[in-house]
Amino acid sequence: MKSMTFSTRLVDRIPRVEGVKTYRFERLKQYTYEAGQWFILTIPDGEGYLTKHFTHSSSPTEGYLDFTTRLTGSLYKTALDSMPVGTEVEMEGPFGSFTLREGGQRLAFITGGIGITPVRSILRYLADTGSDMEVALLYGNQNEDAIPFRLELETFSSQLPGLRVTHALADPSPDWGGPTGYIGQETVSTALDDPAGWTYYVSGPPSMVAAMKGVLDKLGITRRQMILESFDGYE
Ligand SMILES: Cc1cc2nc3c(=O)[nH]c(=O)nc-3n(C[C@H](O)[C@H](O)[C@H](O)COP(=O)(O)OP(=O)(O)OC[C@H]3O[C@@H](n4cnc5c(N)ncnc54)[C@H](O)[C@@H]3O)c2cc1C
Repeated sequence: MKSMTFSTRLVDRIPRVEGVKTYRFERLKQYTYEAGQWFILTIPDGEGYLTKHFTHSSSPTEGYLDFTTRLTGSLYKTALDSMPVGTEVEMEGPFGSFTLREGGQRLAFITGGIGITPVRSILRYLADTGSDMEVALLYGNQNEDAIPFRLELETFSSQLPGLRVTHALADPSPDWGGPTGYIGQETVSTALDDPAGWTYYVSGPPSMVAAMKGVLDKLGITRRQMILESFDGYE
């Protein structure tokens, strides 16, 4: 899809988990994007402007433009979070190829923390379009309270019969019965009976994407079976 630059307005901010919020903007009719794509956002800051890249956490099936981010206390995030509803911003997009491919019938998403944004966009899209694809999500977070979109991910299962979700928690409560620690070879081969038979989508901070690519390499997954999206800017 051809990229364009346009102005839009903040309509809402939605807290997800501690330190993570979704920012919602009016959607322009002319602006089209594919689930999983990203854009460049320029926001006002005093007399000047600040620019960063974000992924649409909304799906093209939804009537607004969302992105979701971790509030780090940086200059940009402070300016973002103090924008009143109605503030005009500039978006340029869409960009990126972390998108659905024709013919890929078994999709495995591997991500951690804020890396869920393009995955939420794609899963929402698949749910809204009634997909019967076989889809697996392996999602790493610190603990039960730190999982953005946790409830929604559960509701997707009723709309997507082929979806299975595995949460791996680094520091869970004693009641947690699921996988613990970081996602590794064992997490992948336990969640997916036949790891070689899937197309892998890995998104998140560069260090996480590099680590997961290493896990997939060791499992013998070819580079052609991997679609990687690094959120450059996070360490
Ligand atoms: C294609 C693409 C898509 C992206 N999509 C998303 C997205 O959907 N959501 C998203 O949140 N980001 C996304 N990013 C990253 C985003 O553009 C920013 O780089 C990122 O959010 C960090 O910005 P910042 O202002 O918080 O940190 P910066 O001020 O740029 O700081 C740089 C580094 O310091 C760390 N840091 C800063 N302050 C703190 C703090 N108080 N505590 C701990 N660490 C700190 C940051 O994590 C980062 O590693 C994407 C980037 C790319 C290239």
